[in-house]
Amino acid sequence: MIPVNEPLLDGNEKKYLEECIDTGWISSEGPFVKEFEEKFSARVGRKFGIAVANGSVALDTAVAAVGITHGDEVVMPTFTIISPAASVVRAGGRPVLVDSDAATWNMDLGQLQDKVKSEIEVKKNKNIKAIMVVHVYGLPVDMNPVLELADKYDLKIIEDAAEMHGQTCHGRPCGSFGDIGIFSFYPNKHITTGEGGMVVTDDEEMAERCRSLRNLCFQARKRFVHEELGWNFRMTNLQAALGLAQLERLDEFVGRKRNMGKRYTGLLSAIPGLQLPLPKTAYAESIYWVYGMVLKNEVPFDAEEAMRRLAERKVGTRPFFWPMHEQPVFQKMGLFTDERHPVAERLARRGFYIPSGLALTEEQMDRVSAAVRNDLWR
Ligand SMILES: *Cc1c(COP(=O)(O)O)cnc(C)c1O
Repeated sequence: MIPVNEPLLDGNEKKYLEECIDTGWISSEGPFVKEFEEKFSARVGRKFGIAVANGSVALDTAVAAVGITHGDEVVMPTFTIISPAASVVRAGGRPVLVDSDAATWNMDLGQLQDKVKSEIEVKKNKNIKAIMVVHVYGLPVDMNPVLELADKYDLKIIEDAAEMHGQTCHGRPCGSFGDIGIFSFYPNKHITTGEGGMVVTDDEEMAERCRSLRNLCFQARKRFVHEELGWNFRMTNLQAALGLAQLERLDEFVGRKRNMGKRYTGLLSAIPGLQLPLPKTAYAESIYWVYGMVLKNEVPFDAEEAMRRLAERKVGTRPFFWPMHEQPVFQKMGLFTDERHPVAERLARRGFYIPSGLALTEEQMDRVSAAVRNDLWR
């Protein structure tokens, strides 16, 4: 089976990990954590980085740090991983969902503008506090209209850049736009720490709040007396050691991903019935976090059947995200009942991605492409 993802760990990973073991620094107290926070946040153009246990809890931390609480509403795309919506719901807030753009697969910015305007100006909804931007798969959301909108209506921006290490929008690093941003270091992301995440911001007060929330809200003077509930979301020195070694190669990895994306497009673009990833927009060139495709309407079956056929040819695949408004867990809470977002619904049913990890070889890409070309329409 050609795996859908395999990381590349052949830099200084082993050396830095050995240093952790030789020195005995394996917990979050070790020196690599701070070094990783400083180097990573500098790389994405932010003053502060707060390393945490994974990208999902980075979102929990960010949502708490901007002050989302009971009754607050956060506008976000319906087409994403569950983590952004879960963070808002767990904080007692309510996601307000926006459909996707059929070409970029990101949040539809026209709909975002209409939604915010109609909620605030027409319905006089005073609960909308923030916009959660999620950059999906390879191309970022165009941040200019989002910044304008947030400015106009005094909304916070939480930027989920979990898939965007090394990507830019209008030449500026993704993760540097929001009041607060997050990254994930899961092994299928551009750089990995096994499990891991980071919150980034330029706001010193918010950074301090994230550090406190990540560390059970212990207090400096009376350590075991708590004014607030936090979590243990700390990253270990072992994870940060991996992260530092990976970060040294971020530019190389991004270049590698872009070459892979172009190579796949060259191999697959003559095949009928497939919508391939948009290579670029006016504000960014795709980073191809994963190489996705969407079956066009003329194809008489869904992504599920396509993935089954490719599995028979020993090609690993993953389905696209399933929209938030169709999640049983949220429906059971009475959220999003009777909502329809047709573009996201179609992407979920017709979209999937093929092996896209950093360790993928050209020979494997040829085999994957041959399987798509020869066996998908059989
Ligand atoms: C991967 C990912 C997350 C979650 O990160 P984990 O480290 O897996 O918890 C959140 N948002 C997006 C957009 C992601 O791709």
